[in-house]
Amino acid sequence: MQEPATQIPADAAPSDGGRPLTFAGLTSHRRAQLAQLGIHTTLDLLNWLPRRYEEFQNGLSIDQIKPGQRVSVAGMVIQTRLHRRRPMRFEVLLEDRTGRCVLTWFNRRDLAEKIKPETLLQAAGKAGLYKGRLQLVQPDIKVVDKLEMAPRSDAIEPVYPASADVSKRFIADLVARHLDECLADVVEWFSEAYLTERHLMPLRQAYRQLHKPSTTADITRAQRTIAYHEIILFQLALEIRRYHQKHSVTAERLRTDDRVDERIRALIPFELTAAQNRVIAELRTDLARQEPMNRLLQGDVGSGKTVVALYAMLMAVAAGKQAALLAPTEILAEQHFYSISNLLAKSRVQMELLTAGTSAAKRTDILTRLASGELHMIVGTHSLLGDPVEFRHLALLVVDEQHKFGVEQRAMLRHRQANVHTLVMTATPIPRTLAMTYFGDLDVSIIDGLPPGRCPIATRKITSRQLPEVYQYMEQQLRAGRQAYVVAPAIEEGVKELDNVNAVLTDMAAHLPADVRMQPLHSRLTAEERRQTMERFRAGEIDVLVSTTIIEVGVDVPNATLMLIRQAERFGLAQLHQLRGRIGRSNLKSLCILCSDDDSDEAQARLSAMVKNASGFRVAEEDLRLRGMGQMVGTRQSGMPEFLFPDFLMEIPFLQMTRRDAAAVILADPHLISPEHARLRHEVYRRYESTLLLADVA
Ligand code: ADP
Ligand code: MG
Repeated sequence: MQEPATQIPADAAPSDGGRPLTFAGLTSHRRAQLAQLGIHTTLDLLNWLPRRYEEFQNGLSIDQIKPGQRVSVAGMVIQTRLHRRRPMRFEVLLEDRTGRCVLTWFNRRDLAEKIKPETLLQAAGKAGLYKGRLQLVQPDIKVVDKLEMAPRSDAIEPVYPASADVSKRFIADLVARHLDECLADVVEWFSEAYLTERHLMPLRQAYRQLHKPSTTADITRAQRTIAYHEIILFQLALEIRRYHQKHSVTAERLRTDDRVDERIRALIPFELTAAQNRVIAELRTDLARQEPMNRLLQGDVGSGKTVVALYAMLMAVAAGKQAALLAPTEILAEQHFYSISNLLAKSRVQMELLTAGTSAAKRTDILTRLASGELHMIVGTHSLLGDPVEFRHLALLVVDEQHKFGVEQRAMLRHRQANVHTLVMTATPIPRTLAMTYFGDLDVSIIDGLPPGRCPIATRKITSRQLPEVYQYMEQQLRAGRQAYVVAPAIEEGVKELDNVNAVLTDMAAHLPADVRMQPLHSRLTAEERRQTMERFRAGEIDVLVSTTIIEVGVDVPNATLMLIRQAERFGLAQLHQLRGRIGRSNLKSLCILCSDDDSDEAQARLSAMVKNASGFRVAEEDLRLRGMGQMVGTRQSGMPEFLFPDFLMEIPFLQMTRRDAAAVILADPHLISPEHARLRHEVYRRYESTLLLADVA
């Protein structure tokens, strides 16, 4: 059974409207408390879905009860006992015709007044064994006049998320009492025939099942129904954008002939792999079209995406247009600028670097030359997209490490550069299910495999007791002319229990010979200091870089073959894989050492996944399996909208269905203007107008 997110975001409701909660007997005080939870209307209340369900078996006789079951029983009180020592405990011995069981409550002196021997009771709760006797702890009870055995039946009870002020029980009662009133406000989006065809139910029926379930199978079908409604909304939003991109915006056609192709290839000092060539062919097809390219390039760390992007950028330059490369961090922008400059050394292509660290004078100069068209290519960070930056004729925008930007940022980018071809790249491989939603509006290219001659990276896991051996091994490697990275989760002393760069440096100085050249690298250094450190590391003037995750993306120093990650359990799998991708960039043998003293199952499972899997796609799948879709997509930070039932995003056939359906709707009615789509249109725009910038599309 699916469990919806605990805190349902106010904007996650698949419906809007509804009426304010003005039920008779609901005080304004209560209403305020509910409002705190985001429950303002009847539909909000319906969307406050149970977190889980408890199954009750009713009408069992005491001798039929097994420990672990949730049951309701009826019987007569034989004996009561109040233990006054703290925690105060009240015990009741209950008997029916078949046997006896104990009911136990803590801190419920009030019950001692109410329950006396010979009281007739119904009690419901979870059965357990305590000192060999059957007991129900903290059961719900009802005093009755007559002992009637309830008919034998199973019941499913919803358990609601609650707050300190509003208890589960209060919400359960409120919903139970007013379910019909609330359901009356639900407007259906699809016809019954449409839903039946997809093994779904009408929305109203789905809400009824979720709040007042009859069988477990019905709950699942109801959850699928709600999931369908929320996911198709997202797919529709993506389809609308996609349609708009294809039909109402035109970009510069960039054609290449063999001569241009030859000239570009002459700049690349190695043979491109088959995968790289395939992607280049895809890009050439896209770029030759008038409709703007909107393509995602996926490839594992070190697979050689940059040179593919460079090919496309040079196509723009060859056509007399401009190209821009956007990176999420200054270090990565500098790295790209450095490596591309090397490749372009013998060409006449004019390229500059623009980041927050660029001096004011240089910046003015760059902006002038971008506007005049004298600059052909620009590499930079977000500052590249700032308002004053004007291009003479930007034809291609490449965004590296796309996963560092969210869905909203991407929409923003496309909004600003609508008539520009866009290539986004990511090295955090996206499981197919995620790609189909998060990146649903993009075409996807994949570079599988690494350039030839790469030695796979070995990965080991150790505890800090083995660090002295690691330092010995490190010394050998450094003597052999190699370089190393050491990564720590914090910069300096401060956060308790976190290894920090400064302490690690001190520790290593005590273990390694004095002539080993070590330097820290982290975000507290100035941009200039960081740039210099990177340059010296690249030039081999530094042996060991002790750093935070700042080196996570893009840094490319093939001579570095050893990486030690301290407190590796502090990092996510995707992050560990990114970090590990800094080594193994040549034909030299590389080793990644994950140091962790956390022996919890969870930490060990994650680190083992790293040791076992070298491929980023496998790591990503493992990550998905260990964390679940909810965790992967559920954060605001990822830019992914939150879903009530994110686990359905993992079902490929289900996702395919929502995508197909959304595509069919938009194909028939691109702007959702036909009356039958009025409701859908309303919902799509209500939910995604601002985040996906649909406003400019309509
Ligand atoms: P990523 O896909 O992680 O961005 P890069 O583009 O940084 O990878 O490439 C990693 C390294 O591999 C770079 O040093 C690049 O020059 C090199 N490289 C890329 N393609 C090839 C190739 N076909 N043959 C040899 N080396 C290559
Ligand atoms: Mg890269």
